[in-house]
Amino acid sequence: MKRILVTGGAGFLGSHLCERLIAAGHDVLCVDNYFTGSKNNIAHLLSHPHFELMRHDVTFPLYVEVDQIYNLACPASPVHYQYDPVQTTKTSVHGAINMLGLAKRVKARILQASTSEVYGDPEVHPQHESYWGKVNPIGIRSCYDEGKRCAETLFFDYWRQHRLQIKVMRIFNTYGPRMHPNDGRVVSNFIVQALRGEDITIYGDGSQTRSFCYVDDLIEGMIRLMESPEETTGPINIGNPGEFTILALAEHVIRLIGSKSKIIRLPLPQDDPKQRQPDITQAQKLLQWQPTVELENGLKRTIDYFRSIVA
Ligand code: NAD
Ligand code: UDP
Ligand code: UDP
Repeated sequence: MKRILVTGGAGFLGSHLCERLIAAGHDVLCVDNYFTGSKNNIAHLLSHPHFELMRHDVTFPLYVEVDQIYNLACPASPVHYQYDPVQTTKTSVHGAINMLGLAKRVKARILQASTSEVYGDPEVHPQHESYWGKVNPIGIRSCYDEGKRCAETLFFDYWRQHRLQIKVMRIFNTYGPRMHPNDGRVVSNFIVQALRGEDITIYGDGSQTRSFCYVDDLIEGMIRLMESPEETTGPINIGNPGEFTILALAEHVIRLIGSKSKIIRLPLPQDDPKQRQPDITQAQKLLQWQPTVELENGLKRTIDYFRSIVA
């Protein structure tokens, strides 16, 4: 049994991670400031003797005793991370410094939830970990992209300078139950719109692509990376290589729900990446990991969840 800190534990991915770690017999400390997360996501864990919840903002120091740290705290949806961009950068950068300082003091192993956004609007396709990316340093996505890139820098410098045990995971678009209905990300938006019979909002012409990973697969990859041998530091892509246009995703969702919603076009946001697909050779080789849930199946499970919470 390990004592494990999960920052951002009341969020979408964090809540699934806490659940899995508790089921595996660990003692979990969930830290969150509830900016985008919710106590509802972890309400079912509150009575568990091995689960503890703490309201805390990771931009401030945190003194606790743990064996492992999963650093997930950071808004992930463009709508939310652009709401207070200065705070977004602080969360990634000051949050990383504080969690790395904590890991250094207590000699804990620490995993960073990084992102495919470090590749920006990529000129290399699919994206391999060796690609350095094409990121606008001063655009509306930069607070998130550059914040996450700086966090990666900090992780590798704490590793080089202080010999910390680090794990850097580049997460590609992940979806599933407990995404916030107003989260603004494409899968939750389309499902909620289709269930309500509202127009499906495609930004741009819908020809941009994304590769969607179901949450259970993602969490399995995350835990395998944390448990991998010390020399496996990453960065390592975790995502589902199945690549779809946003238009195809909209049509898929409409068909699965049997919705009468119409597709409408809205302007494409600045710096919206045109394509994204993970090269997962490293994850297959080093973690013996690959996704198992097809988009169709994952969407069905996600739709069932949203049906239960959306009128
Ligand atoms: P989410 O918004 O549901 O979860 C983020 C959590 O962090 C929320 O509970 C939020 O309240 C908390 N948080 C934000 N700022 C904080 C702060 N300063 N102090 C403490 N808590 C704070 O998003 P998610 O999809 O669960 O993403 C989790 C992590 O994974 C994020 O770091 C995100 O960048 C990364 N990621 C997610 C995806 C994806 O597709 N879901 C893709 C790439 C990277
Ligand atoms: N820190 C923390 N908890 C700890 C130890 C450190 O939050 O248990 C924070 C503290 O705010 C510090 C930061 O992590 O500023 C970086 O710590 P480090 O030891 O690397 O640097 P220093 O203390 O020299 O600034
Ligand atoms: N998108 C869309 N309609 C929406 C929400 C998003 O067409 O209602 C598009 C968005 O422009 C982007 C893709 O879907 O091209 C994925 O957007 P999301 O915000 O989910 O993630 P990210 O852009 O960070 O990959």
